[in-house]
Amino acid sequence: MEDTFQYQGQRRQLVEKLRERGIADENVLRAIGSVPRQFFFEPMFVNYAYADEPFSIGCGQTISQPSTVAIQSHLLDVKPNVKVLEIGTGSGYQAAVLDKMGAKVFTIERYRELYLKAKKLLAEIAPKVRCKFGDGYKGLPSFGPFDRIIITAAAPEIPEALFQQLKIGGKMVVPVNCNDGTQAMTVLEKLSETDSIKTIEGKFNFVPMLQDKVRT
Ligand code: SAH
Repeated sequence: MEDTFQYQGQRRQLVEKLRERGIADENVLRAIGSVPRQFFFEPMFVNYAYADEPFSIGCGQTISQPSTVAIQSHLLDVKPNVKVLEIGTGSGYQAAVLDKMGAKVFTIERYRELYLKAKKLLAEIAPKVRCKFGDGYKGLPSFGPFDRIIITAAAPEIPEALFQQLKIGGKMVVPVNCNDGTQAMTVLEKLSETDSIKTIEGKFNFVPMLQDKVRT
């Protein structure tokens, strides 16, 4: 697949739409403006790549909508060379955006099919991203601790193993289930091994984060 002028134009329009929707973080907008989102879609669906909508990527999962990727990337407060752990690789798009923002990205996926596909694509367009297959609830203890952790699936709560793998002073961005079926975007700043400050940044809709079930 090619990144034609047509796609580049659609991407510029998407960035303008995100600006109109209140995304002002230039580092995020630059990254979204440089990652060819059509590469993360099935060939028959590439026409949907620049709509601000979530879209099916197979295995019953979705690529998050661009404005959600922008908000989570902004809240994650990425600085050059921060070590980021993403739970829920999916298509690999969010990982590629964080890579473009200068993060050192590790990402985990529980569906082998999605993991293999994302790993192949990211090896071409964001080769520094490290893809892992497994249960994100357990994190990646052998590669931690992390400066930042982002979960891109709906979590019933903040997984304890992930809190332990976050550095003191680090931040975690997690959509946590509310009782109305949506998720509250929760930002946690770790103050000590036991304490954190929590802020809530609006409501979202994600596919569920599932525990102890890897799909081979
Ligand atoms: N960040 C993705 C969107 C992912 S959708 C993108 O940019 O395309 C959420 C993903 O989380 C799905 O692919 C789902 O399979 C995965 N997931 C759900 N529970 C998980 C778990 N416990 N560990 C790892 N991945 C998980």
